[in-house]
Amino acid sequence: LVYGEKPDIVREKSAELYEKAKQYFPGGVNSPVRAFKSVFGTPLFIEKGDGCRLWDADGNEFIDFCCSWGPLILGHNHPKIREKVIEVMQNGMSFGAPTSLETELAELIVKNNQFLEKIRFTSSGTEAVMSAIRLARGATKRDKIIKFEGCYHGHSDSLLVKAGSGLVTFGETSSAGIPKAFADDTIVVSLNDKNALKEAFSQFKDQIACVIIEPVPANNGLLLQDKDYLEYVRSICTENGALLIFDEVISGFRVGFEGAAGYYQIQPDIITYGKIIGGGLPVGAYGGSSEIMSNISPEGSVYQAGTLSGNPVAMAAGIAQLTELAKSGFYKELNNKTEEFTASIQRYAASKNYKFKVFTIGSIFWFAFTDMEKVQTSEAIDPASMDKFKSMHRELLNRGIYFGPSGYEVGFISAAHSKMDLEKAKRAIFDCLDIVFK
Ligand code: PLP
Repeated sequence: LVYGEKPDIVREKSAELYEKAKQYFPGGVNSPVRAFKSVFGTPLFIEKGDGCRLWDADGNEFIDFCCSWGPLILGHNHPKIREKVIEVMQNGMSFGAPTSLETELAELIVKNNQFLEKIRFTSSGTEAVMSAIRLARGATKRDKIIKFEGCYHGHSDSLLVKAGSGLVTFGETSSAGIPKAFADDTIVVSLNDKNALKEAFSQFKDQIACVIIEPVPANNGLLLQDKDYLEYVRSICTENGALLIFDEVISGFRVGFEGAAGYYQIQPDIITYGKIIGGGLPVGAYGGSSEIMSNISPEGSVYQAGTLSGNPVAMAAGIAQLTELAKSGFYKELNNKTEEFTASIQRYAASKNYKFKVFTIGSIFWFAFTDMEKVQTSEAIDPASMDKFKSMHRELLNRGIYFGPSGYEVGFISAAHSKMDLEKAKRAIFDCLDIVFK
């Protein structure tokens, strides 16, 4: 051990559980990033979460900044969510028929969001986005879609497509098993590049059904866009009769109750949600004006369905969580706390001249090992900087701080992170920066 480094945490039980899991799951996991491939050590098997804390199978305790990749804006095991879920479960778990809980959650959402009139619940973000794309194609009777390099929209076929080389490119599939025909209908352009978007619309005149964007791109670092650029995306869609989809699976109910649409005051045609909307249970949704949503079956001809869509237990969790978020002052307090935390880390790094930036919006933040003032495209991220994150991740775990196991992923702060928790985490982060930059 070098001076200042701490011994690695014990992971014996996690390692044993991982060996067993590998017998049954490809790579031992049910979602790839969980396998810890980009960081040191075997994945931690989690036993319990409470407030902002997590405990793994070896009894290690962590302050959690992953928050289940975003859903847990109130922290783990929030009593109001737990109690509401238990209350609803007493009456059964699923009926495959309407319940008043669906309407209750929809009303809570729509009454507090001026950008929506009607919504449809799904069971994941992927499903919400996949359905939103079908809706856009059905409503416009066009096939092609435009997406941005560096935005992630779940794993449906049309969207697992990345940029080829050139300003405007037909996408290349980013997974095996996707027919080329899907990629041919997905056009990929760089973020923050008005010309590329303009060029795409002129090359494929009257063929573009929709443009889909994460208005707060948070799956490839945190690539915060200028408001002016997002307004341009809005206006070029309108001019060309294409629909604008805001994928707010992360930003929805996170940067404010009205998400990025509210934050930037931009009206998209369709908005997709996931994560926070389900209070930690599997829920997604897509929504828009009554007119656009009237294209959805059984009102219209765009088919979409789900055995467990609007599941009462999941709705209960969503209702309990969103009720807290709709209370006045909720976001102000959470966002201020985050701003204080990230600003003081930034000040520390600057005082030591470390090549390190903290980007932040609402209660989302991203540690970037760069000296650029803005990082707005995925191409601006130096892959070599991920080595620094890898060391940082290990040192953080050794000090009881849990981050998602990839430097391309953002961190989240929840209402359960107290000032004292954040103070403790900050000290640990300072130590880790000193080691990483030694
Ligand atoms: N869209 C965005 C912006 C996301 O961040 C994600 C997941 O991280 C998805 C879609 C897919 O959601 P899910 O993982 O619930 O299928």
